[in-house]
Amino acid sequence: MRLDKFLTECGIGSRKDVKKIITTGQIAINGKIEKDFSKKIDIKADKVFYRQKEIIFKKYRYYLMYKIAGYITATKDNKEKTVMELLPEWVIKKDLFPVGRLDKDTEGVLLFTNDGEIAHNLTSPKKEITKVYRVHLRDDIDNESIKKLEEGVDIGGYITLPASAEKLSDREILLRIKEGRFHQVKKMLKAVNNEVVYLKREFFGKLGLVDLKPGEVKEISKDDIV
Ligand code: URA
Repeated sequence: MRLDKFLTECGIGSRKDVKKIITTGQIAINGKIEKDFSKKIDIKADKVFYRQKEIIFKKYRYYLMYKIAGYITATKDNKEKTVMELLPEWVIKKDLFPVGRLDKDTEGVLLFTNDGEIAHNLTSPKKEITKVYRVHLRDDIDNESIKKLEEGVDIGGYITLPASAEKLSDREILLRIKEGRFHQVKKMLKAVNNEVVYLKREFFGKLGLVDLKPGEVKEISKDDIV
């Protein structure tokens, strides 16, 4: 692969940016400065360094974020701050997008990738990926409402699939659902005459928040996800 293409694919910058980086002597291949941007490299054998850091070619990247409130789940928006702005500098943003959606005021597990196939599988209703939400409620919840949430409620012409609702206290539940319709948790609670006052996704399939602090991001592998 050509050196300039390699660096662009690795997310170092645009073709124009990387040509400048190369011609100004900032790239070393196997310990030697390389200023020819059309130089052919072997992506498996050659060691490419930029700013003292080895650049490793990864076709697909996966990052796990502990989303905080105040950011919408989108790649771009004219008015609102997006989750892309929460990604630290070291994350390679090329072709990256969030998988599924958390509302602006929702916190918790959010996956980013450039792997369209895995994103499709994780969001496809057929795959029935379990999502676990911690829900704080406006009003006390009774056993009748818990039963309804578990059996299925009408969220505007659609009856939700069987779910699990665990009462943690009078105004706090853990809701496990296998679907991800728009505003689903909020609509489910509305259907039992209650209201969500705080929402956090604790698990998205196998992915949990484990050692992440609010707003933090870590790189993970495909094996962590499926
Ligand atoms: N359900 C909602 O209502 N909001 C979210 O952000 C996620 C699930």
